[in-house]
Amino acid sequence: MHMSNIINAFTIDFEDWYQGLEIHKVETWHKFESRIERNCLKLLEILKAHDIRATFFVLGYLVEKHPKLLKMIHELGHEIGSHGYSHTQVFRLTREQFNDEIARTTDAIYKITCKQPLGFRAPIFSIVRDSYWALDVLAENGYKYDSSIYPTFNYRYGMIKANRFRHEITTESNRKIIEIPVATARFLRVNLPVGGGAYFRIWPYAVTRWAFRNLNKQGRPGVFYMHPWEIDPDQPKIELPMRLSLTHYHRLGSTEKKLHKLLDDFKFTSMSEVLGLDY
Ligand SMILES: [Zn+2]
Repeated sequence: MHMSNIINAFTIDFEDWYQGLEIHKVETWHKFESRIERNCLKLLEILKAHDIRATFFVLGYLVEKHPKLLKMIHELGHEIGSHGYSHTQVFRLTREQFNDEIARTTDAIYKITCKQPLGFRAPIFSIVRDSYWALDVLAENGYKYDSSIYPTFNYRYGMIKANRFRHEITTESNRKIIEIPVATARFLRVNLPVGGGAYFRIWPYAVTRWAFRNLNKQGRPGVFYMHPWEIDPDQPKIELPMRLSLTHYHRLGSTEKKLHKLLDDFKFTSMSEVLGLDY
């Protein structure tokens, strides 16, 4: 039984286990064991078991390397959005470099789906004050929504004062784009990041349930996100800086079980459906 009739958004930052680690750049990616296919199939099974359509924000690099896998995701009815090409944080790119990443990834996705992708999630939530111009580039490239501004605080990202809910932004060249952030919960006057990722693994499931139940009670959909490698406790362990290693490897074994609970307790669908966009 679902706890509410409000339908939340289920999103996946589609990248392999070593691609979100920052310390390994795109030129070295071919050296690592590829586990994206097996993890993706496992994830698709879970979504199917709960009859959920999701949004996959995919890396352009993976679209080029695994066209068949992407085709399968698309044919199962999931939405394909963009996660950039090389998993470089937006604020480390020039406007021109970012535009190139977006154009290349959009083209790669279009070749598979014959559809303009509508949504974008920046690598490591890297649309912050210094990279706000990126929203203009996205709108210019035909994107209708962005889910990259995390209204919380983290040592790597966050805009603590940003709007926590869906809103429209007018970009510098007067284009419109919808911003729909990952779920946060208001607690003791701070925004807790409760929308997934490492926090979902680290905190007991009850925290996520409390947060989504509260959002849904207010009539608001929550946005949840995860990575395929988070349901892969057997992924290779490599030497990482302490802080990264703590969040990357923490409680990988518990994620799948919690995920089933979440999907039993709440309704989910793709982002474009939550936003009422024509995809
Ligand atoms: Zn990522």
